[in-house]
Amino acid sequence: MKHNFGAGPGILPHEVLKQAAAAVVDFNGTGLSLLEISHRSSEFEAVLDEAVKLVKELLNVPEGYSVLFLQGGASMQFAMAPYNLLPDGGKAAYLESGVWANKALKEAKYFGEVQIVATSKESNFTYIAKDFEIPADAAYFHITSNNTIYGTQLHQFFPSPVPVVCDMSSDIFSRKINVADFGLIYAGAQKNMGPAGVTLVIIKDDILGKTGRKIPSMFNYQTQIEGGSMYNTPPVFAIYVSMLTLNWLKAKGGVEAMEQENIAKAKVLYEEIDRNPIFKAVAVPEDRSNMNVCFVAENPEHEKPFLKLCDEKGIVGIKGHRSVGGFRASIYNAMPITSIYVLIDTMREFAEKNK
Ligand SMILES: *Cc1c(COP(=O)(O)O)cnc(C)c1O
Repeated sequence: MKHNFGAGPGILPHEVLKQAAAAVVDFNGTGLSLLEISHRSSEFEAVLDEAVKLVKELLNVPEGYSVLFLQGGASMQFAMAPYNLLPDGGKAAYLESGVWANKALKEAKYFGEVQIVATSKESNFTYIAKDFEIPADAAYFHITSNNTIYGTQLHQFFPSPVPVVCDMSSDIFSRKINVADFGLIYAGAQKNMGPAGVTLVIIKDDILGKTGRKIPSMFNYQTQIEGGSMYNTPPVFAIYVSMLTLNWLKAKGGVEAMEQENIAKAKVLYEEIDRNPIFKAVAVPEDRSNMNVCFVAENPEHEKPFLKLCDEKGIVGIKGHRSVGGFRASIYNAMPITSIYVLIDTMREFAEKNK
């Protein structure tokens, strides 16, 4: 058995994978593969409707918001958000909390002025800067709720005088959020919600149509809303597997139950890192992520042998991102606490051997 700590595409529930595999061969007894039926068939429309319904239900999405399933990943949203929200000559505010935030703000510069309200770049993003003011004349304020690479997470959101745009790629559905606090939420599915190939977008309808800019159809949220995520052929497989994953989440008790589990999972792992003399956590305690747990070996010579021991124990995907080094344990929703105990036991065994 493998324990998949990979950062993304990340772990999915085993029963979801089994259902997905079956649907590729025979979708709901139609005698056809999910991959060869029309996206406009009643069978697929039911899948998309259910996926949208589950998002609304699990996150308590209020009236006045649209839920979209788009392509292009979170990276396309880096551009699509300013394309639709930032007027020529206007300004957008960004919190620079890591590489993804930085990539997002680079795209916004194609459309208008970008004001970085704060950054933690000088410490290689080991914390999230919180001492700043959000300019009231900005078109929006952009944040990243969980910084996948550095293992930091915003445990509290900032009250904002302007609409908040949030990249939730790596912690959507991992905890309760108040959708009404946001103008736009987007998330590539492949970290915590489904397979690569689809991006969830939740957008407040009344923030649209204010730039005066002409926007090509595929990049225009309005077109996508009017087309019900079917302006063109949607990524049917990725939407189907996301729908299955959301159903799995609902059966587990929804986002609130998941949040409690995720807190418990992260807690035991950070406790071991803090206790174990070999390892050291990367992020400051108050900003530690419950999704991506980053740590390093105090002695860099321990790095390779620890990775080798992990490999022997079936622990995969735990090597840290190249810009941080060390290790990163991504412990998304589908990761059972039993796998975390396997990692903890491995860390203890390694410490015992290297006393
Ligand atoms: C992975 C990730 C991205 C990039 O997602 P793509 O879907 O590959 O474009 C953006 N933001 C965050 C926070 C991520 O974790």
